Amino acid sequence: MKTNLWEAYLIKRDEVETFCDGYKNFLSSCKTERECIKYAVKQAKAHGFKSLNDLMKKNGKLKPGDKVYAINMDKAIVLFVVGKQPIENGINIVGAHIDSPRLDLKAQPLFESQGFCMLDTHYYGGIKKYQWIAMPLAVHGVVVRKDGTKEDVVFGEDGPVLAITDLLPHLENKEKEDKKDIKGEDLNLIAGNIPLAKAKEDKVKAFILNILKEKNISEDDLFSAELEVVPSGKARDCGLDGSMIIGYGHDDRVCAYTALQSLFTVEKPDVSTVCLLVDKEEIGSVGATGMESMYFENALAEIMNLCGQYNELSLRRTLNRSKMLSSDVTAAVDPIYVDPYNVQTDAHLSHGISFNKFTGHRGKSGANDANPEFIAHLRACLDKANIRYQATEMGKVDQGGGGTIAYIMAKYGMDVIDAGVPVLSMHAPWEIVSKVDVYETFRAYQAFYNMK
Ligand code: MN
Ligand code: MN
Repeated sequence: MKTNLWEAYLIKRDEVETFCDGYKNFLSSCKTERECIKYAVKQAKAHGFKSLNDLMKKNGKLKPGDKVYAINMDKAIVLFVVGKQPIENGINIVGAHIDSPRLDLKAQPLFESQGFCMLDTHYYGGIKKYQWIAMPLAVHGVVVRKDGTKEDVVFGEDGPVLAITDLLPHLENKEKEDKKDIKGEDLNLIAGNIPLAKAKEDKVKAFILNILKEKNISEDDLFSAELEVVPSGKARDCGLDGSMIIGYGHDDRVCAYTALQSLFTVEKPDVSTVCLLVDKEEIGSVGATGMESMYFENALAEIMNLCGQYNELSLRRTLNRSKMLSSDVTAAVDPIYVDPYNVQTDAHLSHGISFNKFTGHRGKSGANDANPEFIAHLRACLDKANIRYQATEMGKVDQGGGGTIAYIMAKYGMDVIDAGVPVLSMHAPWEIVSKVDVYETFRAYQAFYNMK
């Protein structure tokens, strides 16, 4: 099962590169949940998907082969292709998350210090704080004014970038130098240094407020905003052999992209198929846009209704009989930091899509432990399609583990397993994946969508 795919890959490199070019474009331009949803909707429409909301307004009907999408607060989406079989026989779901670790601007972020205008942040998800300083950063997001109008904001991609400063080594004591000691409260971005001459106080801040004013944004408007600080720049090829991609947010946009693209290849399936992209996984899948919300269940009920197949019992049966790939990335064995891994049982880069029978740690605590019957069924499906995959864990027994959305969907009694792309430098501002793994994951999701 463990072989480097590049060695004897049956698929032409051109095919892999073409697919990965699309992925790099997506990753470079979609750095927030909302940007991912916009992209997904645009692509979905181009592939014949209709809005569930529009259909509901028009008293529309759905029939086998029809494609429909439902957006949740611009930060999560359900894409559904109606199958020939009754929906209550169960559906094949691939679910990924589109939120990534980052820094969020606070609701009142602007302040002045030592002649600089600063932006205060609160980090989101599991980050190593030292990785975010002394590097070019961008701000992506949305500001909503009191009248409800919205301003999409991107600072720091084409124009000037932002940054968080760090001390010169000479000024630092030894313990602080290993950079383990950055305080969350110190993650402040430098936003400017020019004083506004006519301002009475906080002159540098006043200058920055003037820049925001050009976009018709006031300081108070930043209270009703969602502004995310992310690494500035595009995803790029990595390695002298160009075998890898370095980019921001592979976790978990690499699984989101492959899930989406594979769904777009599904036409008139036997079993109904769903691609689910959700928010808030990195902070526990909570809130209205996280997997713990009722959104998916409600959207499914509405879709079944438009298919003329809704009743409460059918909905329960559907959820119970469905199969799901909780499509999330996993940590690949690192050539420098080998120690936390078990190289026999952990994922290797370029060795294909990774299946985590269980995540969790220290006695599988908190894990969704996938059933062998389901895994056997999957193996048959993947082998038939000649897909290369690896069975993996995440780190050594006593120290590894991680949460995904798997256990949430498993609550319905459906079969769920974690399956996704292995990643190096996971949760760092720039993460690394292998191109063959990206392509193999796309192929695996495709096979799964067509699984009976
Ligand atoms: Mn993840
Ligand atoms: Mn993560």
